[in-house]
Amino acid sequence: MAKRKLNGDSEEVKAAIEDLKRKAAANDSEDAEDMYDDEEKLPEESDIAVKSFEDRINDTVPLGNVGDLINETTEELEEQQRYEEEMEAEERRQRREMRRRSRMNELREERNSGRVEETEESAPPRKRKNKNYKPDDDVIIELSGVSKSYVKGVPALNDVNLKIRKGEFVFIVGESGSGKSTLVRLLLRELKPTTGSIWVNKYRVEKLRRWQIPKLRRSMGVVFQDFRLLKDRNVYENVAFAQRIVQTPIREMKRNVPNILATVGLAGKYKARPDELSGGEQQRVALARALVNKPPILLADEPTGNLDPKNTIEIMNLLDTINKNGTTVLVVTHNDKIVNDMQKRVITIKNGVVVSDEEMGGYIDED
Ligand code: ADP
Ligand code: MG
Repeated sequence: MAKRKLNGDSEEVKAAIEDLKRKAAANDSEDAEDMYDDEEKLPEESDIAVKSFEDRINDTVPLGNVGDLINETTEELEEQQRYEEEMEAEERRQRREMRRRSRMNELREERNSGRVEETEESAPPRKRKNKNYKPDDDVIIELSGVSKSYVKGVPALNDVNLKIRKGEFVFIVGESGSGKSTLVRLLLRELKPTTGSIWVNKYRVEKLRRWQIPKLRRSMGVVFQDFRLLKDRNVYENVAFAQRIVQTPIREMKRNVPNILATVGLAGKYKARPDELSGGEQQRVALARALVNKPPILLADEPTGNLDPKNTIEIMNLLDTINKNGTTVLVVTHNDKIVNDMQKRVITIKNGVVVSDEEMGGYIDED
């Protein structure tokens, strides 16, 4: 049977397109009624972009560069998944091979030394990992023997062990390239560790299935050095966006968004667009977006990297307040002055290794 060819100019297709446009317009105006009263009409193109972005991340707050995420195709994701699976299989194979070799060596040595077979009593106790291990109740993040190599044999993180308790404020410091962002990306399951285990909020992060990842990410608010706001949306919409993704009822959203904007000191600026705001204000918007869904953990990767000293102090004080209100806060930075002033727990990473971990610590000056 011959396939029916669709002609772009045909009346049938034109009618269908018109129909779709009408439906889209009807949806828009329904939505608009629910929005903030003086909501401006938004450009169609950005609506489409945001929609597919929502589809893509489904129910988490924006994590990567918005444009990049939109462009990332399903094939690329599948490719990455396949690659990860192959790497895992290869690692399993290597571990099996190593175990086999060491058993062979043991046997050979036994034979050479004429030793008799080990009895139950003489056998050394086997070290065995407890598969049912779970962090203590008050531990919200735990890493155990975590290493990550992007390139085989070159670890960006090397055997990291750490525990972060609920309600803590922790600085992660270290020079550029030491592995700080890798740590953040592992917590978000943007990456999987090469070895080791990670728990966040009781989730065994590296074991999560793909469909479980949004649940993990919803338990963490994230802010970055470059703010990552939606440039063609106003302050209110940038924050409301995070609520829409988790399908917060409009009524609640209309309460939550102004509340969190007031908390970050931006109540009066809800109509401004990102390019009308200072860097400090943009980071406050990003913080409001990260916090509006009330995640138990806030991750901030170099949040003051683009800010002047005055705004840096203000953002840090805000993070302190957020922490005092109960959120566990992790701040990645290399601003030594701030770290020294704030007297919080400081974990220092050097070349992928945790080299110090101090309560009320300071930035280690290498000179
Ligand atoms: P930091 O955030 O402390 O500056 P990163 O975690 O970004 O450090 O990087 C740690 C190391 O891993 C660096 O040597 C960096 O070059 C390398 N690295 C980071 N991301 C990638 C990547 N996607 N592919 C290959 N190497 C990477
Ligand atoms: Mg970094």
